[in-house]
Amino acid sequence: MNRLWRWILAIGCALAVAACEKPGVDAKRIEAAAVGEWLSYGRSYDEQRFSPLDKVNRETVARLGVAWWAEFDTDRGQEATPLVADGVLYTTTAWSKVYAFDAATGKPLWSYDPKVPGEKGADACCDVVNRGAAIWKGRIYVGTLDGRLIALDAKSGEVAWDVQTTDKTRAYTITGAPRVIKGKVLIGNGGAEYGVRGYVSAYDADSGKLAWRFYTTPNPKGLPDGAASDKVFREKAAATWSDGVWKESGGGGTVWDAITYDPQTGLVYIGVGNGTPWNHKLRSGGKGDNLFLASIVALKPETGEYVWHYQTTPGESWDYTATQHIMVADLKIAGIDRRVVMQAPKNGFFYVLDAKTGALISAEKFVPVDWAERIDLKTGRPVEVASARYENGQRSNQMVGPLGGHNWHPMAFSPKTGLVYIPAQHGRGNYADPADFRYVPGGYNTGMRPNPAGPSAKPRPPAAPEPRNGELLAWDPVTQTKRWSVDFPHMVTSGILATDGGLVFHSAMNRFAGYDAASGQRLWSYDIGASAIAPASTYEIAGEQYLALMVGRGGAGGYDAPRQPGRLLVFKLGGTGKPPPYAVPAQLPPLDLKLATPSAGDADRGGTLYGAYCGRCHNNTPYFVALARSPSILDPEGFKAIVLDGAMKAAGMASFRRFIDDAETEDVRAYLLWRAKTTPPPKPVEAAHAQ
Ligand code: CA
Repeated sequence: MNRLWRWILAIGCALAVAACEKPGVDAKRIEAAAVGEWLSYGRSYDEQRFSPLDKVNRETVARLGVAWWAEFDTDRGQEATPLVADGVLYTTTAWSKVYAFDAATGKPLWSYDPKVPGEKGADACCDVVNRGAAIWKGRIYVGTLDGRLIALDAKSGEVAWDVQTTDKTRAYTITGAPRVIKGKVLIGNGGAEYGVRGYVSAYDADSGKLAWRFYTTPNPKGLPDGAASDKVFREKAAATWSDGVWKESGGGGTVWDAITYDPQTGLVYIGVGNGTPWNHKLRSGGKGDNLFLASIVALKPETGEYVWHYQTTPGESWDYTATQHIMVADLKIAGIDRRVVMQAPKNGFFYVLDAKTGALISAEKFVPVDWAERIDLKTGRPVEVASARYENGQRSNQMVGPLGGHNWHPMAFSPKTGLVYIPAQHGRGNYADPADFRYVPGGYNTGMRPNPAGPSAKPRPPAAPEPRNGELLAWDPVTQTKRWSVDFPHMVTSGILATDGGLVFHSAMNRFAGYDAASGQRLWSYDIGASAIAPASTYEIAGEQYLALMVGRGGAGGYDAPRQPGRLLVFKLGGTGKPPPYAVPAQLPPLDLKLATPSAGDADRGGTLYGAYCGRCHNNTPYFVALARSPSILDPEGFKAIVLDGAMKAAGMASFRRFIDDAETEDVRAYLLWRAKTTPPPKPVEAAHAQ
């Protein structure tokens, strides 16, 4: 366009704004959920992740191929749902970066790097991921790992405003997508394992000014916060807490994922996480339900005022968060049309609640569960088995474990089949009370008995074989029964998309696949060359339907595959694009221990410290560096430079000087040298990947 034309157009637009400029994405557009677009994290406010597009359908899906792709500058986990509005695709990557592409051609339009400090990676339990952005009236909103909420111009990526939403002295992180409701941007945060107090905040979308905040645990000093949550804590919630570590830790209860708005009820539903520490006995003397941990809480989006709550796991003690995907739908139950809220939280029960009142309609096990027999429909409480609370020195090895029967990976609901599609997880968890416990600010404070480590530790008797598999599960929420399922040998698979083409899309074992939504028959699949955990989204431009998928392994429980650069793959019918194959990742060769400076450190003590501070990331090899194979342990000075002086902080390895001193660091090195000597070489990457 030349200058003259631009000038003429500018004058024309000034005369008739509506004719030239789209109004931007607002409530009407999100509520109308335009057929060809994807305007909010869960597509529409109800978060059903169901697209009415049907050009890609059971008959045509076999012709799906790559239309275009992009590769990113990070090999950390990718969890984002790409959004599409007005022909532009917006996505976020690990390290909270934002990218805009022409949605039809893949032409990069702009990108934005919030420059999250690398050492902030050590505050993230589950990788430096980001689940996506929000669009509202010409702006893109993103939460960052270091706790900021940022508004960007949708056309240029320029910063409109940037606010800190968290206390920077605590291990708060943001990985979840903001939602914009009634002109306010709602955002929560994570960090419950490390000692934070959870809350959700609403910021004015125009100005970035805080509108309201709702805390999910009581004020530790018993004071009012001057927040929307004050009234309900004063009237009922504070009394559900007793004396315990929560007064130091803040109690947890982070709102790190689900925030769902229902225009019909006018309520916003937030999903609340686990307690800090997990151990209820330590957290609150084993007393009280500890509201609002592990709860769905309904609020008024205008003010943050409390309306109702449903607590899935009273006295939460196992990392059984209720942060998981909350969706709203119309179901006919016992002949009556009901507006319902549905959730499959970590604890393994699928819940159907009345959206207006929070009354429990039904709850059944959607995966194998043995920590509770059932949910009592009268009280709404689980009927726990006696051993579940691991009291009096007992261990509990129970289904499910901390990764849950379902985690953040989004479900989808098809109003056509009436089924909810769940990326379900089968697994166990070990829980045990520690002999003593010291709360460490910013440390991994679960309140579990540490596993013995180091040369003098007696190996524990082998545990019962553990189920660790994943399942694409088609669940009938009316009858609370399984309709069909597909099993995978990996526990963690991807989020899900459902479409009116009679299809559900899901990724597992390096394959992105389309299934018949009614029968579960796999109709198409594509080798993405690496692992995807994110859900796909779909959109239409000029009569062609596209599917967009973020590829990149990471996140909780997702460390069992090699790291590869993140990619965005976009598919359409007849697409012939061929992204280059990934290189086979290099492996660290075994260490030549003759080169090691011997250590006089205490390897047993080092093993305990390793378990407390290092294992969270470094046990999950080959995703992170396996320290027993890292040349960094050969030399005490080089090891200290990394562990205490932050030599690798840009990559996420913060200085751990706030937790351990010089002598303790050498103890850890002594332990790792012992591990290097005694650990068999790891399986080749390919074999580990295919298991
Ligand atoms: Ca947790």
